[in-house]
Amino acid sequence: MRAIHRLSKILQPITIISKGSNNPHKDVTSKSQRLMLELGVIQQAHTGSFHFLPLGLRALDKLVKIVDEEMASIGGQKIMFPTLVKADLWTTSGRADAMGSELMTLKDRHNHKYILCPTHEETASHLLQSLAPISYKRFPLLIYQITSKYRDEMKPRFGLIRGREFVMKDLYSFDVDKLSAMETYEKVAGSYDRVFKRIGINFVKVLGTSGTMGGDLSHEYHYRAAIGDDKIFVCHNCDFSANVDLMKTEKCPKCDEGKNVSIQSSIEVGHTFLLGDKYSKPLNAKYLSHNAKPQLLQMGSYGLGLSRILAASVEVLSLEQEMRWPDSLAPFNVVVVPPKAGSREEATVGPLAERLYASLEREVPELKQNVLLDDRTNLTVGRRFLDARRVGYRFVIVLNKLSSEDPPQFEMNDLARNSQMVLQENQIIKYIKENINT
Ligand SMILES: [Zn+2]
Repeated sequence: MRAIHRLSKILQPITIISKGSNNPHKDVTSKSQRLMLELGVIQQAHTGSFHFLPLGLRALDKLVKIVDEEMASIGGQKIMFPTLVKADLWTTSGRADAMGSELMTLKDRHNHKYILCPTHEETASHLLQSLAPISYKRFPLLIYQITSKYRDEMKPRFGLIRGREFVMKDLYSFDVDKLSAMETYEKVAGSYDRVFKRIGINFVKVLGTSGTMGGDLSHEYHYRAAIGDDKIFVCHNCDFSANVDLMKTEKCPKCDEGKNVSIQSSIEVGHTFLLGDKYSKPLNAKYLSHNAKPQLLQMGSYGLGLSRILAASVEVLSLEQEMRWPDSLAPFNVVVVPPKAGSREEATVGPLAERLYASLEREVPELKQNVLLDDRTNLTVGRRFLDARRVGYRFVIVLNKLSSEDPPQFEMNDLARNSQMVLQENQIIKYIKENINT
């Protein structure tokens, strides 16, 4: 028998963040940060660093699963680099100076300098360099990892959106020439498009800036949000869009339109780079050509800010006092609310709650391990319903006196449609199957 997820057992500290000047959360600067802290999804450890509590980690795990599936579909191989990397590598690539004080650095007992990596182009190149050159037949090679990364932000902000420690998925591609590197770039970019489509939040893909990364070509993925630190140019006359840092005029460079364009605030959630030999050359990453000569590899680098995507999704969808998730990432999709302890319905209707829970898990594939039982029956149904709304569980099923009828009926609430229906079990199953978007 499978375990039941009971709300009373979940570590979910609920707090209210007041606006007073002496509160410990005076650096709370965004809606998603406040809601995720208040509703026990994350907990601040120190400035710019957070504990993922059970609900937060469930959401992150769902995102990881989507990413792993899409990477498998293009032949991406999951690996793990060390996070602690010798600073020499970054001196060799020239990036130690370029990134300066943003790099989190430390020294060991022998006074050797290390970096807590924000990204791993040097590490990936070094790995290929440290192997005997691999035959050209084995490329393209796509390796990726999902790990914590570090950046010494001057001002960490917006919770998980701009932290000093964050979870990033980073993929590195290696090819034998520029043409195949470009093909690989298109293939990986296609898989990123699919990741964002599956998450289900409207995104904008724009021509990107290369910044300290360098390289030949880059694209960025953005969520539109008022708090966003980035600005993107969008032409509504054609399909052109770009980071405004690339724009010198306010006219569309593609169709010459100057009026039907807009500049929007956004949060960057993904970035792809075609790097050429910018890292493989200084770090000497080579392959063995068909005439058995070592030749420089062509690289691409592809990042997804996973912890940032979670917070940005909540930022985009939430109401001021109620958290909202895309179905694809919600910690749970359904919550079942049985009657209050000691109520008239408890004895007759109460046992139905676990039966309904089991049928939902059994009959709706998307709901496997995604149903929550709000067994805090010392609280009224109304109070638990409000809690469910605040945390943003999309389908809230309440057992009440209608549930003692034959066949039993249940109050079904769909938060995404702001609707309430009275349905039988088989109708609930049908409704969720037709409407869930995971
Ligand atoms: Zn245009």
